Amino acid sequence: LVKIEGLHKSYGGVVKVLQGLDIEMKAGDRVVVIGPSGGGKSTLLRVLMGLEQIDRGAITFGGKPYISANGNGKTSIDAKVRRSIGMVFQHYTLFPHLDVIGNLILAPVKVRGEKKADAIARAMALLTRFGLAQKANAYPAQLSGGQKQRVAIARALMLDPKLMLFDEVTSALDPELVSEVEQVILQLAQQQMPMVIVTHDMWFAKHIASRVIFCAGGVVVEDGPPEQVLGAPKEERTREFIERVF
Ligand code: ATP
Ligand code: MG
Repeated sequence: LVKIEGLHKSYGGVVKVLQGLDIEMKAGDRVVVIGPSGGGKSTLLRVLMGLEQIDRGAITFGGKPYISANGNGKTSIDAKVRRSIGMVFQHYTLFPHLDVIGNLILAPVKVRGEKKADAIARAMALLTRFGLAQKANAYPAQLSGGQKQRVAIARALMLDPKLMLFDEVTSALDPELVSEVEQVILQLAQQQMPMVIVTHDMWFAKHIASRVIFCAGGVVVEDGPPEQVLGAPKEERTREFIERVF
């Protein structure tokens, strides 16, 4: 589904964050990315979302070119592919002046030209599935953190993504709200949604991952099934990180 080859990314040419990353993701994969703080996990997701310029390397999506560096500092990004990827961040990024339904239907109606009534029907179906139907007309300020994140996920799903990216979506939440958000993502996983997830939650990583990738120093240090990478890592650096963090 996604093939990342020789990805190099720095900020302003000084802070070298990704230094030759190679990752190949199959259609059914749910990839959990772990690694030290500042190691470039968020940067990797932002690159995948088409939000960053890259220095070197190429990314294909479904076998077709998606992102590539063309040598003279320019990055070309296929906008159509970018629209087929959804992302949810650590801090809720809902539009505060729109109610929940308004947040969900904005892009489908404005960007895709979907009929408002159709978008509302799809939005209500999603909200019902996520246990949020009674919050359809609430404003973000009236929602709990867990509810906001579930709305953010629903909003991303409104655009029928072929890949979902989750960057520490529960780490800003009170502990008792974590599970309601993780359950929604687990539900998506059951429906075979391909996803890349950055998380520090060991329970969640074990339950959601089909693969775990340990990134450090801008490269992939270890890549394998969760039982291996989390349970019995082959690399010393992975073992040391797992023991320290989880
Ligand atoms: P964390 O686990 O703390 O979220 P991370 O693995 O997600 O860390 P990134 O946020 O990708 O790490 O950051 C990687 C490096 O790039 C860090 O050194 C960070 O300071 C730097 N960085 C990130 N964004 C920018 C930016 N917009 N401009 C300059 N430097 C940046
Ligand atoms: Mg991060």
